[in-house]
Amino acid sequence: MHAAPGRSTLTRMASPDLVPLDTDVHWIHGSPSPRRLADPPLQVHHLAPGTVLIRQSKDLTYEAPFILLLLGEDRALLLDTGAVDGSELRRTVDRLLEGRTTARTDDTAYELVVAHTHGHGDHLAGDAAFAGRPNTAVVGRDHAEVVAHFGITDWPAEVVTLDLGGRVLEVFGIPGHHRASIALHDPMTGLLHTGDTVYPGRIYVEDAAALLDTLDRLVTFAEQRGVRHVLGCHVEMTRRPGHDYPLGARYQPDEPSPFMTVEQLRAARDAFRTVAHRPGIHRFDDIVFCVGEGPRVLVPLQLRALVEQVRWRLGLHRRNPTT
Ligand SMILES: [Zn+2]
Repeated sequence: MHAAPGRSTLTRMASPDLVPLDTDVHWIHGSPSPRRLADPPLQVHHLAPGTVLIRQSKDLTYEAPFILLLLGEDRALLLDTGAVDGSELRRTVDRLLEGRTTARTDDTAYELVVAHTHGHGDHLAGDAAFAGRPNTAVVGRDHAEVVAHFGITDWPAEVVTLDLGGRVLEVFGIPGHHRASIALHDPMTGLLHTGDTVYPGRIYVEDAAALLDTLDRLVTFAEQRGVRHVLGCHVEMTRRPGHDYPLGARYQPDEPSPFMTVEQLRAARDAFRTVAHRPGIHRFDDIVFCVGEGPRVLVPLQLRALVEQVRWRLGLHRRNPTT
């Protein structure tokens, strides 16, 4: 039997060539009380050669965002600079890029592009630490600056490329959580990074119609490209389906992996379709959608946050480390 070569055959055959990611990581997840702070400021994990995932400590910021660094032959991309001052991140990135030279034969220096998944403060607080770095471009936070830098003319549908040298990334717009949100796809590893748009936690919906469209496009893209891992910037769920940690939690000993599957992405899309037009907090197994900014969303979030803050300050988590 001869199978006719076709698009689906090629897609299936492409998967085994993906560089595997080591996603089995014990991530830092905060400390049980302010008197027992134990985490380092950053955890650096090599998912694969030239593929680094960094987490900021919950001891420094309850946001504890994940920051991605991808290295090519000519330049690297740092996606986000975190929620606190970026001095420590700058030192870490400098160390990771140390000794790198461009693969090109001329004297071109190895470059760094600092871009953002979106323009919220917990993803760009460290920008200033990179502002004066040699051979570095820091992309602005605004929609206009993002589309200009990446050369996107048909926002958000157009998929553009970013060539790191021997490693061509794909970028496209995913508004809904934030107007200037982008997704990043690394075909080498099958990694699709969605920023704060899809992750195991609370997705704050700024524009429901835009997010509906974005989730459809993310699912279609992931299916067409044979995406293997879906990554976001935070983890706020527990391992118990439908249970999230309170807003502002400083200690999350029972976190799931930040990596999700395309199946979970599809489930998130299907779930959001059922609640997109209903303001409130909608909990599903792996994800929570917070639709709107009215009291129905803010009051329960802030009440839980307050109780959690008191529990943490009093060190009550020591008695029951799984909650
Ligand atoms: Zn965020």
